[in-house]
Amino acid sequence: MAILSRQLWYNEDMRTSLVYDPIYLEHNTGNHPENPQRLAAIMSHLEESGVKKNLILLPPRPASVEELEMVHDADYISRIKSVAERGGDWLDPDTVMSPKSYKAALYAAGGLLTAVEAVMKEEVNSSFALVRPPGHHATRTQAMGFCIFNNVAIAAKFALANFNIGRVLIVDFDVHHGNGTQEAFYNNPKVLYFSTHQYPFYPGTGSIDEIGSGEGEGYTVNFPMAAGWGDEEYLRAFNEILIPVARRFQPQLILVSAGFDPHWADTIAMMQVSITGFAQMATVLNNLASELCRERLVFTLEGGYNLQVVASAVRATLDVLSGNPQIVDPLGKATGRKPEGFEERIKKIKEVQHLLQQ
Ligand code: ZN
Repeated sequence: MAILSRQLWYNEDMRTSLVYDPIYLEHNTGNHPENPQRLAAIMSHLEESGVKKNLILLPPRPASVEELEMVHDADYISRIKSVAERGGDWLDPDTVMSPKSYKAALYAAGGLLTAVEAVMKEEVNSSFALVRPPGHHATRTQAMGFCIFNNVAIAAKFALANFNIGRVLIVDFDVHHGNGTQEAFYNNPKVLYFSTHQYPFYPGTGSIDEIGSGEGEGYTVNFPMAAGWGDEEYLRAFNEILIPVARRFQPQLILVSAGFDPHWADTIAMMQVSITGFAQMATVLNNLASELCRERLVFTLEGGYNLQVVASAVRATLDVLSGNPQIVDPLGKATGRKPEGFEERIKKIKEVQHLLQQ
């Protein structure tokens, strides 16, 4: 009987979708940490682990130039197009393009728009847009840090422009600060940007004092992390800062820049998060989405360069979104020593964000 072969945990009320297309493998970066093998490893792990069969697979559409222009200058977009037409080139010391990179980048931004559309129309509860190139470092006029178009920023603008909502929360736990995303909404009270990131570190932004400006003051929340902090510190940042800030803001949609480079086994940075830690963060985000915004939750892949880590972390995140309580963590916890200073850091952020009074 079919019912007996179904996994016991599978909860049909939790409709979770995955946005993916092989076009993302055609952004050919050669011998670069941000390479097509990342998505290939994730997709084969989702297949082999049986997680993929419980997901609703959504093919992405390309973003239009008009949609990109909500975040990027027209001149910048046409420059990217012409670099691809010329056969590709380096855009900055970290960011390279191949002939198909422009097309892949249109589908990366568009993949998030597909995910946002599905979530806002309540066709699915949550979605994971498994795209590349990543986006959170891309600014209005500049590619940087492996990013070409700022996928998550375009998705936030798109949601505000098309679905009659006025408040979007972006949570960014990539190990690097999302300078491009912060910049896109620095003066804008409709988008609250919350970031945890190793600091000081690339790209240099993301201090506690960067809180937004003008009407956007108070709508940028940075939690700089000392190299070596891990699950406990990230979870406290989520529980003690993100949750109260999100409740105060009352988002109507939550977008997540999910970078799995804070994992202890990712050599690009020095944090000590585990797969279990990422699953705990996903649980907080899933609970916030249920409590505050009718479960409208969209994850997108940013960084994460250890193939086993990204495969296991995306799987664990999808397990959380699908209601599976059993998290598989093949790499285990970090064992390194942790630097001091967390209590003072979190107290200072509570002061700056006005979370101490009441
Ligand atoms: Zn990163």
